[in-house]
Amino acid sequence: MEHEQLEFDVVFVGGGPANLAGAIHLKQLARKAGRELEVCLIEKAEAIGAHSLSGAVLDLRALAELIPDYAVRGCPLEETDLRDGVFYLTPAKQFRLPYLPPAMHNTGCAVISLSKFCAWLGTVAEELGVNIFPGFAGVEALYDASGRRVRGVRTGDKGIGKDGKPKSNHEPGVDLLAQVTVLGEGPKGSLIREIGKKLGIFSGKMPQVYETAVKEVIELPADSPFWNSPFTVIHTFGYPLGLDTKGGGFLYRMKEGRVSLGLVVGLDYEDPMLEPYREFLRFKHHPLIAGLIRGGKVLQQGAKTLAAGGWYTMPQLAADGALFVGDSASMLNVQRLKGIHT
Ligand SMILES: Cc1cc2nc3c(=O)[nH]c(=O)nc-3n(C[C@H](O)[C@H](O)[C@H](O)COP(=O)(O)OP(=O)(O)OC[C@H]3O[C@@H](n4cnc5c(N)ncnc54)[C@H](O)[C@@H]3O)c2cc1C
Repeated sequence: MEHEQLEFDVVFVGGGPANLAGAIHLKQLARKAGRELEVCLIEKAEAIGAHSLSGAVLDLRALAELIPDYAVRGCPLEETDLRDGVFYLTPAKQFRLPYLPPAMHNTGCAVISLSKFCAWLGTVAEELGVNIFPGFAGVEALYDASGRRVRGVRTGDKGIGKDGKPKSNHEPGVDLLAQVTVLGEGPKGSLIREIGKKLGIFSGKMPQVYETAVKEVIELPADSPFWNSPFTVIHTFGYPLGLDTKGGGFLYRMKEGRVSLGLVVGLDYEDPMLEPYREFLRFKHHPLIAGLIRGGKVLQQGAKTLAAGGWYTMPQLAADGALFVGDSASMLNVQRLKGIHT
């Protein structure tokens, strides 16, 4: 099958915060150096941000360095008055930690909707001249004749029937060729795994450690006790997971009467009957949480993987012709539950 070839200087695979920030920074550097760079970014979701799911408390440090005038440019922040409360939950009670562990301090951070934030970063990238192609998944890494140098990615065919056969509107995928291909596919990328096997970027590293988070955005009534809570960012540990299973809950205040509620569960649990969604429901029914969200209406729900292995699972960050960033490169700081700015 013939595949059209398009040549760029740099191709970014994945439209999450890591790659969007990378593409923006690259274009800023090129502009400063007076160089023209052809940069493209592909995202498998139909729109930038449509597959994004996070907490999310954003550490604003990196954003302030990347886009110093982010506030003027309409960066969508949900809440900036962050007051932390950390609770240990038993089945029927809660105990607030009298002090905040340093990693849990969120003063100076902001609650965001990651999907809105990524959509906004996408517009900033486009203004700088990044060619953004939503709706295109990278399905295969391309190599040069030596087989050791990454040359780009092939996007998936369009117009394939449910039976796997081409339909009348079939279009073969496109070969996006580049000097450098940046893989920012998130925690469970398929191409980085393929490249990893071929070029050995994970050799000598510990296997990745995964967690699953279930999350809802809930609209609360105007008289909800949450609006009078002294805390706008709540983290919990203990119930329903106990102390032998890694993980914990979060409840963050957002704009327009909404909150973000979620439970993160380490997938190395020993109990074969444990099911993260059921644990999330038990978490919602805990008296502390149930009291705060009573009368609310669920607007959105989703689940996502976290790559929580950190330093010991971080692959080689560059190979010939390729760079690995964000969760794909295990850059999530799991102690802080922060990976957007890393
Ligand atoms: C429930 C939850 C709560 C969290 N809370 C916080 C928090 O409060 N603060 C914080 O800083 N971090 C938080 N994190 C972590 C944070 O969301 C991630 O670290 C961050 O999103 C990683 O960014 P990324 O760009 O590496 O990957 P992602 O955000 O996963 O983006 C990857 C993108 O690449 C696309 N993609 C993947 N493969 C391909 C392909 N082959 N071709 C084309 N596109 C592809 C995906 O569709 C996706 O849009 C949380 C995570 C979860 C799940």
